[in-house]
Amino acid sequence: MMGSARTIAQVILGLSIALSSTGQVPASASAPAKPADEEGALRAFAAIHPIDVHVHVFKTDPAFQKMLEGLNVKLLNILVMDDTLPYRKQLRPQIDDALALVRSSRGHIALCTTFDPYKLDSASFGADAIKQIDRDFAQGAVAVKIWKNIGMEIKDNRGQYIMADDPKFEPIYKDIVSHGKTLMTHQAEPDVAWGPPDASDPSWSYYQENPQWYVANQPGFPSKQRILEARDHVLANNPQLRMVGVHLGSMERDLDSIASHLDKYPNFAIDTAARMEYLMLMPPEQVRAFLIKYQDRVLYGTDLDLLSDANLPDALKDWQSTYARDWKFLATGETFNVEGKQAHGLNLPQTVLQKIFRNNAIRWIPGL
Ligand SMILES: [Zn+2]
Repeated sequence: MMGSARTIAQVILGLSIALSSTGQVPASASAPAKPADEEGALRAFAAIHPIDVHVHVFKTDPAFQKMLEGLNVKLLNILVMDDTLPYRKQLRPQIDDALALVRSSRGHIALCTTFDPYKLDSASFGADAIKQIDRDFAQGAVAVKIWKNIGMEIKDNRGQYIMADDPKFEPIYKDIVSHGKTLMTHQAEPDVAWGPPDASDPSWSYYQENPQWYVANQPGFPSKQRILEARDHVLANNPQLRMVGVHLGSMERDLDSIASHLDKYPNFAIDTAARMEYLMLMPPEQVRAFLIKYQDRVLYGTDLDLLSDANLPDALKDWQSTYARDWKFLATGETFNVEGKQAHGLNLPQTVLQKIFRNNAIRWIPGL
């Protein structure tokens, strides 16, 4: 199995070198050459017509569009309301820009919209949110996102943190169900946000750059368990609501807990966005068994972004190396380096890869 995969990779690599030397693969100024060992992985990735259900793209560019077309990849672009960033503070311009991006993408980008939870105390909050979401659905949005500011930032008028199961959100969840759309939930954060500093944790550098989300030692701050239980109430109260818990459902260190959630809530699936490294650092046989058992419930996502001020060559390199690395991990038996440690490819069967990289996205997020 491994031998034949390697042979194919070598053949492909050989082919690409041959094409380059005859000048048939032009090296454009904005599309940097890929390291040779990524070529085979990216070709196999592209052959499956993958869907990345978790990205944040704020601009377009011919070189970016060309990359999407070359990789046959479709993206679900997720909007977030974040009152700490000027651009993410305003919803309307984000939606307008995102819809323009969808229209210019020739079928390569779809939209996951959101609503403004900072307006929770307005008397018309629910009605306004539903009106806006329905308008976005009519324009092609396929899903709705709630973010970690619910549970970890926004407080009600009594000074209490609002949770995902707040009754004010219920009409919105019902509206999503009535339109046959999907709710993407980013609730809570990795365990390390509540724990002692841990430089070995794949998310630790995020908290060094974003200390406002590092909540250890904050008296009275909701526990991670309380936030995830509120999310679980939404699943239990809305059995018709399809929910994708992004970032491994924030259970990034506990496959047993993910499994018991998937067993308990048939309307729940997870994405892998920004948490693949946790899987890479677990015992490979356990991860492989988990992914085979729950092959219908895991969606491939990355959390890659393209910011408006992005340096395109750097961004393209980042996107391609992430896709190549993730493909190597799930699809091959190769050994590679993650955070200074060795990771082993899972060599998953092709039928499982087809589901994780594509079919599950279509089934859990209809319209993609
Ligand atoms: Zn994200």
